[in-house]
Amino acid sequence: MNFLDKIKGLFGKKQAPAETPTPAPQKKGENIIEIKGITKVFDGVTVLDDLSLGIKRAQFVTLLGPSGCGKTTLLRLIAGFETPTEGEIYIEGVPITGVPPYKRPVNTVFQKYALFPHLNVFKNVAFGLKLKKIADPTAKKGVRKYTKQEIADKVNRALKLVGLEDYGHRDVNSLSGGQQQRVAIARAIVCEPKVLLLDEPLGALDLKMRKEMQIELKKMHEDLGITFIFVTHDQEEALTMSDVVVVMNDGIIQQIDRPKKIYDEPKNAFVADFIGESNLLSGVMEKDYTISFLGKTLTCVDKGFEKNERVDVVIRPEDIVIKAGQNKGHFDGVVMTTVFKGTYYEMIVLASDYEFTVQSQSEFRPGAEVSLEIVPDSIHIMKKILTINKYLGSVTGENLVSFCGGEFEIPTEGFETGDEVVVYVPFDAVELTDDEADGVIGAAVTQSIYKGTYYQVQVYTDTDEDFYIDTADEWDMDDRVGVKIDGGKVRLEKYEPAADETEAE
Ligand code: ATP
Repeated sequence: MNFLDKIKGLFGKKQAPAETPTPAPQKKGENIIEIKGITKVFDGVTVLDDLSLGIKRAQFVTLLGPSGCGKTTLLRLIAGFETPTEGEIYIEGVPITGVPPYKRPVNTVFQKYALFPHLNVFKNVAFGLKLKKIADPTAKKGVRKYTKQEIADKVNRALKLVGLEDYGHRDVNSLSGGQQQRVAIARAIVCEPKVLLLDEPLGALDLKMRKEMQIELKKMHEDLGITFIFVTHDQEEALTMSDVVVVMNDGIIQQIDRPKKIYDEPKNAFVADFIGESNLLSGVMEKDYTISFLGKTLTCVDKGFEKNERVDVVIRPEDIVIKAGQNKGHFDGVVMTTVFKGTYYEMIVLASDYEFTVQSQSEFRPGAEVSLEIVPDSIHIMKKILTINKYLGSVTGENLVSFCGGEFEIPTEGFETGDEVVVYVPFDAVELTDDEADGVIGAAVTQSIYKGTYYQVQVYTDTDEDFYIDTADEWDMDDRVGVKIDGGKVRLEKYEPAADETEAE
């Protein structure tokens, strides 16, 4: 069963039509927010890197990515709690850098809901409204505060929207976590923002409550008709709730698409690995519609690659057809493990030295000999994002090149001390050491993806550079490691100032 089908059940229940919607007049289809070339640097570290994104009115957009990828920073920039280092954000066509948070037509719901403990539910929600001034040409100064009756109407409507209409008098401390989060949402929507920003609002809830609130939030979004920008690192949550998912890594957008497209057609290995279970392999696109991986040549539906271009191949576990006996498919294998997952079996099958993850309604016991068949439609081909590490460095002596905060031994024939050089380091020229002190420089492991016959590991150096490494070993995320380089495999090129040293190959 497809992952999306699995989670579709969540929304199977017909929701009652909203009785009390408070939609601002919104035209669907136009961008309410334009983020143009935003870069954010904290203490010399680039957290968001020249990021651009358009968000349409009334959409439910989710920013999804691993911890530290910059999701919250982007949300805080929209909210006005941070200012961009470069770039501009426009709301309804108006540049908003310099507009304080309270004057922006947005409101934020945080993971830690921070309600006022001494106020009851009604007063918590009413708080912002009491301070608000509204335009009124009949008033002395052209503005006035809301009347008691107006406040009561708005608060009651917001409480009704979050399913807490009878809770106004309750002490907030007597509410469950989910109910408190609803109060926080009511507080955010009562001022009728055009955009609601939600920063992991369900993160503090237990799984059951989280699932319930996912449904509630989706319904609130439909009822309110405003734009929701939701931050999460939970891919299932993102796929379940969103109209559009923005997958981020390392301050860069990897893919913007509808959930199904993100799942079915991941743009690169990072997205494929991050979204759901997948078999991720390295392959060669021999020609149009012909891919080879793990020593086999198969038919696929992709074209337009260079002849023999190295590519990443994604095969979802539920797309692999598993049959009893061998010589009945593309790969012969043996079942290593079988786990029942409620509605299907998940098996690890060793075939061609690769551990395929396979999901099937049929159970195959460990030790069973099986065949795996992969139809062309199930083979997703992606361009490799990077094929070589590239840095700017300088020759510091005979066979010594300095870059990324270290001095590496690299043949420097043809170059002179002091020369600025572009350093090309192939992925298989990098060696990681357990003990950071054994490397020329230290780094932290930020990603480890198994590609069929090797792991592609990404490490982040103390000088804010990434190294990609192809290695037989698996490395744990966040581990500190040492980085060494086989200088014989490195290529140097004289640095031409006009060249863009950060551009990927
Ligand atoms: P998480 O899911 O863990 O919240 P995230 O994707 O939301 O992660 P951000 O909170 O945006 O990530 O942080 C991105 C990076 O920016 C992190 O390395 C973080 O330490 C850094 N960062 C965020 N705010 C600041 C700040 N005010 N000063 C310095 N560094 C910051």
